[in-house]
Amino acid sequence: MSKPPVIARVESIRRQRTLARRADVAGFGFWSSKDVVFSFRPAEDDSGVRFFRSDLPKAEPIPALVYYRIAKPRQTSLALGNAQVDMVEHALAALKGAGIDNCDIVVDAPEAPGMDGSGAPFFDAFLEAGIVEQKREKPRLKVVVEGEFIDESSTNGAKIVARPREDGQTVFRYDLRYDVPGAIPNQTATFVWNRNPLDFRREIATCRTFLSYEEATYLREQGICERVGTKDVLVFGKDGPIDNSPRFDNECARHKILDMIGDFSLTSFDLEGEFWATKTGHQQNAKALLRALENIA
Ligand SMILES: [Zn+2]
Repeated sequence: MSKPPVIARVESIRRQRTLARRADVAGFGFWSSKDVVFSFRPAEDDSGVRFFRSDLPKAEPIPALVYYRIAKPRQTSLALGNAQVDMVEHALAALKGAGIDNCDIVVDAPEAPGMDGSGAPFFDAFLEAGIVEQKREKPRLKVVVEGEFIDESSTNGAKIVARPREDGQTVFRYDLRYDVPGAIPNQTATFVWNRNPLDFRREIATCRTFLSYEEATYLREQGICERVGTKDVLVFGKDGPIDNSPRFDNECARHKILDMIGDFSLTSFDLEGEFWATKTGHQQNAKALLRALENIA
């Protein structure tokens, strides 16, 4: 049985932020193949990030909080009532990376635009629109006693260790270990983040989602992801990415950190500490966050 970290509320070190004006990102959903516009709008202090399904007029806004997450393989989906929005993790990571806390996202289809499989198209739209500081402070949580989350339901040893940091930084580390010859090579990435959005842009935002050729073939056979090609995301064959070249040697591990930043943003707090993940995915990120939020000292 894993012992969760102890988390404590600490003094805020920054004001909340929102967009200066509307930023629209248009594309199609990787899973659903549906055209979609994600329209990011400025929002009030303390309103957080919320999704508004404009194609479902009576739908309630869905808060971007872990309590509204529903289990869906290989992505982060949120739902409330009859409204649902899928694959929101890269847009959420880009918001967190840009330091945007309050944002109304008006969406006209049930899935985020996949773009190039990274967070960069969202991040760049936010920077172009501009980001403004608001009045209220952003609440902050800090890891004060080391602990870990081990996914008891997984057989591959997936875990996340959380440790205190005395320098006030937030550090993510991801160990990617498939341990299968000819598959995506084992790799590690570390991101030391002092919350400078440009560091996030340079180190993490551009790293794309990835899958093996076998997985891609399987999804195609199921009639899913029909609009996504080998040029759109990283599809790994025996000799590396097909029709594509990696942006970093460890782009996959960096992408996993992008996913962690998106999934760990599903709370109204900034998180300070070191988060070291091995072999985890969206489901474990969400469970670990929930466990941590249950253990606030
Ligand atoms: Zn991802």
